Amino acid sequence: MNAPNEILFGDAEAASQLAAKFSAFDPQKLLRLAIEDLFPGRIALVSSFGADSAVLLHMVSKIDKGAPVLFIDTLHLFPETLAYRDELVARLKLTNVKTLQPDADALAKADPEKFLWASDPDACCHLRKVLPLAKALEGYEAWITGRKRYQAETRAALPLFETENGRVKVNPLAAWSGADIEAYFDRHQLPKHSLVAKGYPSIGCIPCTSQVRPGEDARAGRWRGRAKVECGIHVAPLYAGSDI
Ligand code: SF4
Repeated sequence: MNAPNEILFGDAEAASQLAAKFSAFDPQKLLRLAIEDLFPGRIALVSSFGADSAVLLHMVSKIDKGAPVLFIDTLHLFPETLAYRDELVARLKLTNVKTLQPDADALAKADPEKFLWASDPDACCHLRKVLPLAKALEGYEAWITGRKRYQAETRAALPLFETENGRVKVNPLAAWSGADIEAYFDRHQLPKHSLVAKGYPSIGCIPCTSQVRPGEDARAGRWRGRAKVECGIHVAPLYAGSDI
């Protein structure tokens, strides 16, 4: 594949040009373009090792098993998620998965009782997700997310390329449906996160994830009963410098 002619400044116009130019690319082709041609050595996959994560991880492993994968361990995750991370890393032979954790001093100061999620979930996500990711992304020009339009009304207009604070976000699965995800799992015989079969189609932290009822959005179990719908990684500026 030839390197593109355009210079990427990470601004909205560049993102919209990329989205228009590569809209016909399937996710695998788009990923290869992003990893090998657009941002070689300067792009990371941010993965929650959640319900759908095996799809992008598998695609990336087919391109470069050493591509950087960033995983945020908020220290409130289900043990099943940590086990799934280890299972997928071994199965896909990924060699560059970095587990990020919140700063211990900041946690001791702002969330000593580990209960911030109840009183101020935005502050909790900022401390446990946004800040660690922002720091880890400092060395990258672009990152890959697993978000999809069908997941929730708030993601219905998700483009293939976005920009945020001068960094490009690539969403290769934006147009995929739940059926596309299922078909990919079947075609490649990928293992499922063990909580999916228990009614969790979207999996985050233990205190903020509940089972989803038939007919609800896949993300309806996240922060149930609260106005909050995103963790802040995708809506707030990345200070110090984020499926999921
Ligand atoms: S999802 Fe809940 S527990 Fe996890 S970081 Fe956000 S508020 Fe805290």
